[in-house]
Amino acid sequence: MTPEGEALLLQGGLELGLDLRPHLPAFAELQAALLEGNAQMNLTALTAERDIILKHFIDSLTCGLDGWLGEATRLLDLGSGAGFPALPLAIVYPQLQILAVDATRKKTEYIARTAARLQLGQVQVLASRAESLGRDPAHREQYQRVVTRAVAALPVLAELGLPLLETGGLLIAQKGQLNPEELEAGRRAAAELGGELFHVKQFELPVSHDPRSLVVMRKLGTTLANYPRREGVPGKQPLF
Ligand code: SAM
Repeated sequence: MTPEGEALLLQGGLELGLDLRPHLPAFAELQAALLEGNAQMNLTALTAERDIILKHFIDSLTCGLDGWLGEATRLLDLGSGAGFPALPLAIVYPQLQILAVDATRKKTEYIARTAARLQLGQVQVLASRAESLGRDPAHREQYQRVVTRAVAALPVLAELGLPLLETGGLLIAQKGQLNPEELEAGRRAAAELGGELFHVKQFELPVSHDPRSLVVMRKLGTTLANYPRREGVPGKQPLF
């Protein structure tokens, strides 16, 4: 990472209320791993240092805004891709036990290699579809937080994420600019799945000022056993 990149990371962190100075070496290693991994497989379209730092690293860390990660220790990243937000969260919040889940095995293998390279022993990975995990007793209702970035529309995320949460757990969905129809559909889906969509934060990404939103759903009680529906159905036929 260049000195300009380090300054950008620190500035972005400060705007989020985080002192990232102790984590500069880990983020530099993560950037190197991402670029090396990207030379072998398609992990990200963002390859300029500024974009990696702002749109992957800092953006991933916004899901800790307003304290929604709280005292949680068991967190699942649903549709983690190249490890976002899982890997930046693991660097900054070492108390989190993180399961990074993605349907594509090549991506989870990359995340596992990178977590080992960064000595992030609290990161585990699983190549699976969230629909299957949500029906597996080893994972259903086992997590205190589900985070998810750029994976699906809110009603789909509610169906994939809420079954994985214990009662009282939170689904934190990272979105760009929100449209009111998606928000309303997400609200109705959350209620159908034993939860509530109770908080929306609209804000700007540090430095670049790109619009971002966090949508937070709370699990209120048990999700009906018929959810999530079988693989692919939540996305093809959203509940609302
Ligand atoms: N969260 C990462 C990020 O923000 O950079 C990756 C976003 S990428 C656009 C969406 C990822 O979600 C893909 O890697 C895809 O394989 C994964 N995905 C989509 N639907 C999924 C599902 N039902 N179960 C597990 N992974 C899923």
